Amino acid sequence: MQLEELKQKMKVFPKYPRINPPYKVHWNWDISFKCNYKCSYCEVVRRDEEFNTQIADTEQWKEVWDRIFDNYWCTHVRFSGGEPTIYPNFLKFLGMLLEKHTVDITTNLSFDLNDFLDKVKPGGLSISASFHPEFDDFNKFFEKLKYLHFNGFPSTMSYVGYPPHLDKIPEYKKKLEDLQMYFKIIPFIGNYKDKKYPESYDSREKRLLEGFATDSKDQHLNDMNSRWLEWRVEKEENKEKKESKIKLGKLCRMGQMYAKIHPDLTVTRCCAGYHGVDSGKMGSILDKNFKLHDEPLDCSVNYDCPCFKGMFVGDEEEKWEPLWEALDHPIYKLEYMREYAKILKGKK
Ligand code: SF4
Ligand code: SF4
Repeated sequence: MQLEELKQKMKVFPKYPRINPPYKVHWNWDISFKCNYKCSYCEVVRRDEEFNTQIADTEQWKEVWDRIFDNYWCTHVRFSGGEPTIYPNFLKFLGMLLEKHTVDITTNLSFDLNDFLDKVKPGGLSISASFHPEFDDFNKFFEKLKYLHFNGFPSTMSYVGYPPHLDKIPEYKKKLEDLQMYFKIIPFIGNYKDKKYPESYDSREKRLLEGFATDSKDQHLNDMNSRWLEWRVEKEENKEKKESKIKLGKLCRMGQMYAKIHPDLTVTRCCAGYHGVDSGKMGSILDKNFKLHDEPLDCSVNYDCPCFKGMFVGDEEEKWEPLWEALDHPIYKLEYMREYAKILKGKK
């Protein structure tokens, strides 16, 4: 494709194009740790007090995310928390964000469906819904999830592998997979009956989780579930052994192709350490001069890398690159950026 033709498709060339896989900046944004549920196994809502959560209005956010678009073109924002949809004016903000970026929301699905459909149009948004049996009814949850999935919002379901909830996994997983929908298991991290998890899963529970992580018809999902399980569960088990996952001093693209936004709007390279600070603070997302790194940098974390999708340069690319696939934007398509990267690399 010629440059002029490509420019017409891309509408505008970014100031700082991302010319390496995954060719798109990924953000993980813990927008706040507040939640309208209080699941007994939840560790995150307790962290709310640690942060001075900053609220900005939709106009302010538009300025920020337009600037990010000008710098890096279409990026992917993955919201988590807490429950993102209880952030003030979240649905209006989401509708605006989707004009230029793609989004995934991890949500307990408690939002009002009519209000959602009113403010958010399909295209570039996927939903990672987590089902929490202490606060929701499965059938109600499943109906809403199906509606969203088959009406333009590709949706998956995740479920915490909390020991007393493990037995329900086969039933839920089958319901989803019968409709070719993804079911993901999140290994439980925390305390249950005075035991620390995930280290304390017994052999039966571990066999169950390993089986569920590999028995889907979809190979991509199996790869994702098994890598996560391996990273979270086996890493804890292998702590005493020497095969650690320490990446200190190795080049990593986190901070260049990925960054984490915290509730107080500080940005760090990844989530290593208290509030991500061990990986390196990069400033505030509200700052007009905020910039990502333009090159991969050495990892500054002297313990096991916490990320199962860590972007290690020259190391395991074949494993982590496919894990960064995201829904495409209806206008700002990834293939254009790939094409642009080819042209720019050819020029070097
Ligand atoms: S829904 Fe999620 S964030 Fe909210 S209390 Fe439950 S586990 Fe925590
Ligand atoms: S801790 Fe892992 S993800 Fe974070 S910068 Fe180091 S290698 Fe990259």
